[in-house]
Amino acid sequence: MLIRDAEIVNAGGRRHGDIRCREGVILQIEDRLTAEPGEEEIDAGGRLVLPGAVDPHVHLALEVAQTRSADDFLTGTRAAIAGGTTTILDFVHPREGQDYLEALSERREEASTAVCDWALHMAVSWWGEETAEMMRRCVQDEGVTSFKAYTAYQETVGIGDAELCAVMEQIHHLGALLMVHCEEDEEIQRRQRALIAAGRTAPRHHADARPCSAEVDAVRRVLGHARETAAEVYLVHLSCQGSVAELARARRARAGTAGTGAASPGPLVHGETCIHYLVLDDSVYASDDFEVATYVLSPPLRSGADQAALWDALQEGVLEVVSTDHCPFNLKGQKELGRGDFRRIPGGGAGIQDRLSLLWTHGVETGRIGPERFVELVSTAPARLFGLYPRKGEVAVGSDADLVLWDPAAERTLSARTHLHHCDRSLYEGFRVRGAPTHVIAGGKLVYAEGELRVEAGAGRELRRRPQRS
Ligand SMILES: [Zn+2]
Repeated sequence: MLIRDAEIVNAGGRRHGDIRCREGVILQIEDRLTAEPGEEEIDAGGRLVLPGAVDPHVHLALEVAQTRSADDFLTGTRAAIAGGTTTILDFVHPREGQDYLEALSERREEASTAVCDWALHMAVSWWGEETAEMMRRCVQDEGVTSFKAYTAYQETVGIGDAELCAVMEQIHHLGALLMVHCEEDEEIQRRQRALIAAGRTAPRHHADARPCSAEVDAVRRVLGHARETAAEVYLVHLSCQGSVAELARARRARAGTAGTGAASPGPLVHGETCIHYLVLDDSVYASDDFEVATYVLSPPLRSGADQAALWDALQEGVLEVVSTDHCPFNLKGQKELGRGDFRRIPGGGAGIQDRLSLLWTHGVETGRIGPERFVELVSTAPARLFGLYPRKGEVAVGSDADLVLWDPAAERTLSARTHLHHCDRSLYEGFRVRGAPTHVIAGGKLVYAEGELRVEAGAGRELRRRPQRS
């Protein structure tokens, strides 16, 4: 395949030229290439050519209480491709006491229908004598080099303080990366009980039960443990000003001590936010209506001031990644499980198809970030942090031929009626966006062209990784 007249945008800069893809990888990039017999040609004139986006935080077919997130690996990755995302990272959640490796092989089976490339993080959902060894096997034998711990949800996947420290010690030992969901479970449960007792059962009260303080306190505690154990941590879905302030402080401490031979350098920490925290705010919780359940997400949407702080943190490089935390549930039949008790509403929303268009519209079009930084946030940084770079995350010779032909002038309106998410509600219903893919190439094949998907179930490959540090 030959892509002509490409204005290539990488995180590190731009160039113009022709791109030749062969056997799924980028073979050549030159100012001008001559087509060879039988070569498929695509004219990229007038558009930008970006590396396929990497979404490091999605939950397809996730079992939650009595239901399952509405997109499976087939529908979710179809939506991803249509939006310009060609690699996703999802999670394995071992049941209490279940062998991590067994849970991994079950999850691999579920993921085998994916139409784009994928990798898995291992949730450290329980901790016992044999867990450290199972983590080692994940990293060294299975190519699973990132883990996730929850400070929230103590009754299910959450782990306590002592366990968290033990996990971090093993993370450090293995040269792996620990993602952490930071919210203080006890405070949330206490607030939930009080709200329900007072008859405040509507979906809007989900947000009252999970204030910024519950997130910030957990962030501070987790960063303290990271410092003690020297584990590399990645804080998922940071949503508020206080959290990014804590993150910025920790990153400055690291920068201040790195290379100085100081006895205890600051922890190596990274932060992610999600697209919904950048474009939606807590005004959606102003009504007692059950429709508000659409916006039951954890953490919940925050104030305009928090949103502004997140944008600042993206501009300053404090936050490194914009993901989706894609985890849709239909209002009908799923979110409805929480009628009369907001605690029973499955939390999450859809975004895998919309992330790029929304970040382009609200980030690049507004002048907050440039196209190169856009590419870094949605593709290069997640590829680097999760051990996929330079195979993913860059348009370069030798990288996988995952390319997005991006039309910065394309306009459309987001809606549940037209999205490919398997969900009856859109978080962004009626939002006008600018910027969309016209063509998407994954593994050297044209998989999306002018609104038409040409994907094949199971075409995605599992990406096994190696630890970044040892
Ligand atoms: Zn998540």
